[in-house]
Amino acid sequence: MRDFSQDHRWLSVNTATIRKSQGVDLPLAQIIDACARRGIRAISPWRDQVAAAGLNNVAKLVRDHQMELSGYCRGGMFTSEGAREDNRRAVDEAAQLGAACLVLVVGALPGALQGRAAHKDIALARNQVRDGIGELLDYARTARMPLAIEPLHPMYAADRACINTMEHALDVCDELDPYRSGSIGVAVDVYHVWWDPKLEQQVERAGGKRLLAFHVCDWLTPTTDLLNDRGMMGDGVIDIPKIRGWVEAQGFAGYSEVEIFSTGNWWQRGHGEVLDTCIARHKAAV
Ligand code: ZN
Repeated sequence: MRDFSQDHRWLSVNTATIRKSQGVDLPLAQIIDACARRGIRAISPWRDQVAAAGLNNVAKLVRDHQMELSGYCRGGMFTSEGAREDNRRAVDEAAQLGAACLVLVVGALPGALQGRAAHKDIALARNQVRDGIGELLDYARTARMPLAIEPLHPMYAADRACINTMEHALDVCDELDPYRSGSIGVAVDVYHVWWDPKLEQQVERAGGKRLLAFHVCDWLTPTTDLLNDRGMMGDGVIDIPKIRGWVEAQGFAGYSEVEIFSTGNWWQRGHGEVLDTCIARHKAAV
């Protein structure tokens, strides 16, 4: 297992973590600049932030700062209208930016995210998701962009992702890519999977070929918001180093990506303080 205590060369910042600074939207160009000034070598940006800044501009900024993208957020939502074309655009954007993978939040019951589910058939949604990933995979292979299925915590099964465990995500990978080509795998986000009694076993099953991304934050007790109350590493109950050890034992040697959505706490602080805290906790608690 790599020693993170001395430096932060393997820290990546998911740009949602500082999408707001003291409650105000922070443009992606400023996020990239703030990360670069602290020697942070990788980010994982969101599509809406990239669109606002301009794809070509972002590609240039990333090149100029010699930054890597530990991932691109995000594709998926396969049960929504227009998913096919939108996901192909996401693959193209990720390829232009040189991302390590396109992260997939796969979607669930159509309409549920807007407050009114069109039906209650989660098995149907899961079939549509599998088919949608399979179709996108053909396209992503030609663009040489790996797809990373991110299993989400079961509390999001209705509205954001009906793939909720590593086991389920890997079943889909095995079905669509039985020969482990490296074109599809999983994004392991400790927030979503830390509770799973089969986590260690499924990380072993995944192996290095299927472990495409590693996301960190912490699970707070109590958690006051289902989406936007993620904790800073070390402030909650997740044994992050233990999970990182399992992942690295399989050969994962990529970035540890900090991804914190925090309306009430971290998004209220200045982004410099948040980044400095990410660096300190990356060394002490990841
Ligand atoms: Zn994540």
